[in-house]
Amino acid sequence: MVRNKNEWRRRMAEKDSLFARFGFWKSRKHYLNKMTLRELIVAYFQYYAIQAYLAIGTVSLVVLAMNFPGVVPTLIVVGLSSLAYPLAWYLLHRYILHGQFLYRMPLTAPVWKRIHYDHHQDPYDLEVLFGALYTTLPTVAIVTMPMGWLIGGIGGAFAGLATGVFVTCFYEFCHCIQHLAYKPKSEFLKRIKKWHMSHHFHNENGNFGITNYVWDRAFGTFDPENTVLAKSPTVFNLGYTEEEAVKYPWVARVSGGLGPATPRERRISD
Ligand SMILES: [Zn+2]
Ligand SMILES: [Zn+2]
Ligand SMILES: [Zn+2]
Repeated sequence: MVRNKNEWRRRMAEKDSLFARFGFWKSRKHYLNKMTLRELIVAYFQYYAIQAYLAIGTVSLVVLAMNFPGVVPTLIVVGLSSLAYPLAWYLLHRYILHGQFLYRMPLTAPVWKRIHYDHHQDPYDLEVLFGALYTTLPTVAIVTMPMGWLIGGIGGAFAGLATGVFVTCFYEFCHCIQHLAYKPKSEFLKRIKKWHMSHHFHNENGNFGITNYVWDRAFGTFDPENTVLAKSPTVFNLGYTEEEAVKYPWVARVSGGLGPATPRERRISD
């Protein structure tokens, strides 16, 4: 696989022009290392997936009110959904997003590129930081709705969905903050920011949690001080190396080649 920077640049420009943009998202590049907290908050609320979560969460609350199963079942569903969420995210992040099988199939390769490869290629590009709605929403619904339905019928199912989408908004916001060039005042944010940076810049096989590292601790992938795991050579390409790209060319093909090796080089070549 030959690195072809011009081809890669052309594809990137083409990709950007294909986006229907409005408000903040009209501007071509949005890099978190060059944004303020205020700009981030504006971009966050203008992003289509965040708006969809807030709308779906609000509608779910109405459905819950119209089919109210009682306070106790509702609280149980909200509690279980909040507990299931970090575990589901941990398993998906570790075994699906970092599972190195999605890029091996032509149908799933572009999806993997969009939902995780691009984010590790350039952790500061806000455009690929947010999860894609068509992958996040079904996942949230599968994790929360059947369980909610068993406990509280229709109302329970939508109590679960509402919890899932609002927790997703919280995750996405924390994830933005983790990549924004600013020092949070909150100890919680400072801590999770440091641990997520380790996942991006030290070793991608540690610290899979975004806001919650309970399952990293439980499953032995917690590396708070970058001392457990060695520095990983595949932290930006997730193992999709030139050799892999020869065998499984689909991600490279839709990316216009492999592009520059590090996020810094990518931005300089822009
Ligand atoms: Zn952009
Ligand atoms: Zn990240
Ligand atoms: Zn990751």
